[in-house]
Amino acid sequence: EYGSVGFIGLGAMGKPMAGHLAKKLPPDTPIYVFDVVQSAVDDLCTEFPNKVVKSTNAKEIAEKCDIIITMVPEGSHVKSVYLDPQTGICSTDISKKLLIDCSTIDTATSLLVKDHISTHFPTASFYDAPVSGGVVGAVKGTIAIFLGCSETDPNLSRLTHLLQMVGKSIIPCGGPSLGLAAKLSNNYLSGIIAIAASEAFDMGMRSGLDPRVLKKVYAAGTAQNTICDKFTPVPGVYPEAPSSNGYKNGFKVQLMRKDFGLAVDMARRVGSKNVLGQVGLQTYTDAMNDPRCRDLDSRVVYRFLGGNED
Ligand code: NAD
Repeated sequence: EYGSVGFIGLGAMGKPMAGHLAKKLPPDTPIYVFDVVQSAVDDLCTEFPNKVVKSTNAKEIAEKCDIIITMVPEGSHVKSVYLDPQTGICSTDISKKLLIDCSTIDTATSLLVKDHISTHFPTASFYDAPVSGGVVGAVKGTIAIFLGCSETDPNLSRLTHLLQMVGKSIIPCGGPSLGLAAKLSNNYLSGIIAIAASEAFDMGMRSGLDPRVLKKVYAAGTAQNTICDKFTPVPGVYPEAPSSNGYKNGFKVQLMRKDFGLAVDMARRVGSKNVLGQVGLQTYTDAMNDPRCRDLDSRVVYRFLGGNED
């Protein structure tokens, strides 16, 4: 039913996602993989010797597979994976193929790739499908996937069947590039809440409040939100929060900076007033460049803002 499936970009997110497909796709459905880092490809082939097959570039994947998922860092990588004239997906005949880009990138690049595909291969289908839920969610198979299509899209049930192997909730967001617009506005909100929560905890604690009391207050009051509940920026308040584990194994501050920057650009382009955007962008840029914060979970913004960690 799936034909053969290809997966390009086996990093922190892509590798566990491809691993779920290797476990859950029917036995007669091979999965072809490619990454510019050879060790990432070799690791997955070793883990699933009878299921995962290595490929030498994106074009080879496009030749062999009916469905292709891509999961690379930025717009420039998406462009090269799809549009490189020698090795890109679009350098071979991709008529009737289903292409799903899960990378978090700007909407303009995604639309450019989609336009190129619909011009040259009108029977092929390309969807933006960014994900939320972090590396832990990718490993557990619980990520949310925001699909750039309408609820009546003819491919929706096929897409949903496949993507449910890697994630839990699959949300059609309305049309091309709207999965990305949804993802960027989500991360903008989550990023702003983390800054506001860090400041709120800090002013409360400096006034004499215990952060555990503050967490209860926010949960019971009008400030209730997931960042305070499960990603509490103050260490030692919620044991499973990255902050309580040295801000490790979370959503890295530089990734938050990347997504926040994309969101602010999007806001500017669509004429949204966005008064908090510049402050947030500056805060995450400075936090990312601070050696005490770099490579740590983005809620380390609490440390950057001078919060007490004792
Ligand atoms: P990553 O850097 O760990 O992995 C990206 C992989 O893509 C790497 O293995 C890299 O070698 C490969 N790659 C780059 N260019 C390539 C090319 N031209 N051809 C083939 N492979 C190529 O990044 P990640 O954390 O897996 O994130 C991937 C995307 O998912 C990003 O857009 C990110 O913003 C988004 N995302 C990440 C998280 C997270 O918590 N890490 C959460 C949600 C969404």
